Amino acid sequence: SRVGGDAKNVGKQMKSLFSKMQETFGDIKFNLATFIPQGTTVSNDPLNEAKTIISELSDIYKFKKTIELDSSKSEVYTRIIDILKLKYHVGHFAFYEVNNVTMERKLIYSTEEDTICFEKTNKNALECRAHRTNTVTISTEFPNLCQACLALNTNYVCIPFTINKDISLTVSMTSDDVKEVELMKKNISSIKHYLEAAKPVIESQILMEKLKDTSLRDGMTGLYNRRFLEEIIDKIMSQAARNNDTYAVMMLDVDFFKMVNDTYGHDVGDKVIVALSKVLKENIREADLAIRYGGEEFLVMLSNATDEGVLQVANKIHSAFASLSFDVGGETLRKTISIGIAKFPTDGDTIWKCIKYADTALYEAKNTGRNKIVEFKSDMYKSGEDF
Ligand code: GH3
Ligand code: MG
Ligand code: MG
Repeated sequence: SRVGGDAKNVGKQMKSLFSKMQETFGDIKFNLATFIPQGTTVSNDPLNEAKTIISELSDIYKFKKTIELDSSKSEVYTRIIDILKLKYHVGHFAFYEVNNVTMERKLIYSTEEDTICFEKTNKNALECRAHRTNTVTISTEFPNLCQACLALNTNYVCIPFTINKDISLTVSMTSDDVKEVELMKKNISSIKHYLEAAKPVIESQILMEKLKDTSLRDGMTGLYNRRFLEEIIDKIMSQAARNNDTYAVMMLDVDFFKMVNDTYGHDVGDKVIVALSKVLKENIREADLAIRYGGEEFLVMLSNATDEGVLQVANKIHSAFASLSFDVGGETLRKTISIGIAKFPTDGDTIWKCIKYADTALYEAKNTGRNKIVEFKSDMYKSGEDF
């Protein structure tokens, strides 16, 4: 009949509409899956899967936005612990921080009084199979898989995660229930996504902690010292690579400083050094760094400054210091500085090279009369010297 024919047509149209929708959602799912590569369940329901992935992405996004505003590394750790408890409902777990330099492991949190690991594992994180092999270690996969595990009847899923050269994390989840272990296994990649999201935040907090560390400062001037520079430079470079940051490196040195010590004594010399450090602090911004590099030699790093901006700051420092007068027993003493400048990454592709080049430019300033600012040019540098 006609009705039957219409119904057939409608049915046909619906079918083609559905298959188009299936295709589209399949595409959406495929595109989303590139954000979350593993761990999604295989099903014939791409719409539902797309929904799951979107809600997962949105959860991780919210997590990331939240921890970016946290003020310390331990606050971020607490959030990760909360995610394990509240989102993944992990009943028993321990959360560790490994010092990758000393290989010591610190227990940050544990749901239990005791953990499943031998005590020696905390003294040497290489005893931990998950950390040593940098692979997720699951007890159901092989008998007595981790030799540093005390517990005989408890299963474990241990996830290692590297933050950077200094620090790694380990999440050690335990359960007596094999079904629960299956659930933990299913959640591994999802948990790793949270750790991945936390990584840059934890890294910049490690950096912030270093900035506050007093052993990395010079007592006389309160500026950072050379040890600080050595500790921080790799982190600055990896952050610079991520954010496309640029740095202008300035090397500053007082002209004929020995004469101050020789004529007026060491105390007056110290006063001049402290005065110069004050000038530096007053003329750089929060994001910039001033370091006492040597006796009366300073290093300033300006981040993301324009070429004119760099010269402006150098000129301000130069003239502010030249205008100071030091009272030395009735006489007034005035001093000048020379400045060499090199830029990262345009002059050199590492900060160390730029420090070297800034020093080369400073040497040029000293050799051509002192009391001036010289920008590095590649012809100042003899090639063949390596780093
Ligand atoms: P130039 O113009 O070539 O830089 O000449 P200069 O005399 O300044 O030479 P140089 O930069 O090599 O001088 C460094 C001197 O700084 C040598 C050292 O005795 C002195 N010095 C280093 N640290 C301190 C310090 O903390 N206090 C004082 N008073 N003097 C210091
Ligand atoms: Mg000098
Ligand atoms: Mg010097």
